Amino acid sequence: MTKHSDVVIVGGGVMGCATAYYLARRGITSSVFEQNTFGWGASGATAGVVGPLWHVPHNNEPYFELALKSLRMFPTLASDLTDAGLDPQYRQSGVLKVAFTEELAGTLRDDLAWQSDLDMAVEWLDAQEVSDREPDISPRVLGGVYSPQEGYVVGQSLVDSLVHAGTQLGVRFFDKTEVFGIETEASRVVGVRTAAGGFEAG
Ligand SMILES: Cc1cc2nc3c(=O)[nH]c(=O)nc-3n(C[C@H](O)[C@H](O)[C@H](O)COP(=O)(O)OP(=O)(O)OC[C@H]3O[C@@H](n4cnc5c(N)ncnc54)[C@H](O)[C@@H]3O)c2cc1C
Repeated sequence: MTKHSDVVIVGGGVMGCATAYYLARRGITSSVFEQNTFGWGASGATAGVVGPLWHVPHNNEPYFELALKSLRMFPTLASDLTDAGLDPQYRQSGVLKVAFTEELAGTLRDDLAWQSDLDMAVEWLDAQEVSDREPDISPRVLGGVYSPQEGYVVGQSLVDSLVHAGTQLGVRFFDKTEVFGIETEASRVVGVRTAAGGFEAG
C-alpha cells in the first residue's frame, strides 16, 4: 500500500472528512486518520443546528461571513452527497427562536434589526403565529424570530456521507488509526506517525 498522499488529515470528524472531500474534488489526494470510528467525537454527538444567526457572533465579521458562506453551501453539498449515495439528512427546516420573557423578546427584536439587513427573510412572529407554526408550544410564548434559511443536519449522517463520497473520489480513510507523531522538515509537515506506521504528505 502506498503510504503517501498530498495531504494527511488527523481526525475523522466533520471537519477532517469535509476537508478531504473538498480537496478530492480539486484533485488533491488525502489520507484521513481517525483514532476511533468516523464521527466518534463531537460530530457524532452534535445537535446539528445549522444556524449561524444564533451561534456565531455577527460582530466578528470574518467568522460570521465564513458561517454564512457555509450555510449557503449546505443545500448543494447535501444534494451532491445524496447523489453520491448517502443522504446526510440536511433539512432546511428554518429555525424559530422563541421568547417567554419581555427581556428576551426585546433582545430578539434588537437582533432582528441587523438580521433584516442580511436578505435572509428573517421575520418576527407574534404569539399566535408562533402557535400556528408550533401548536404544542406553551401559551405563555410572547413571540419569536423565524429564520427560514437555517436548519439542521444529522452529524453522524453527514460524516458517513462525506466518507462515502470521499472514498469514491479516492480519499483514503483509516479508522481505528491513532496519529501519535508529526514528521517535520524545516518548518514543514511531511508526514505522520500512526498506529499503522508512517505516512508521508506533500
Ligand atoms: C452536544 C453537542 C451539541 C452540539 N450542537 C451543535 C449545533 O447545534 N450546531 C453546531 O454548529 N455545532 C454544534 N456542536 C459543535 C459541533 O458538533 C463541532 O463543532 C464539530 O462537530 C467539530 O467537528 P470536528 O471535526 O472539528 O471535531 P470532532 O468531531 O470532535 O472530530 C475530531 C476527531 O479527531 C479524532 N482525533 C483526535 N486526536 C486524534 C489523533 N491523535 N489521531 C487520530 N484521530 C484523532 C477524534 O477521535 C475525533 O473523532 C455541538 C457539539 C456537541 C458536543
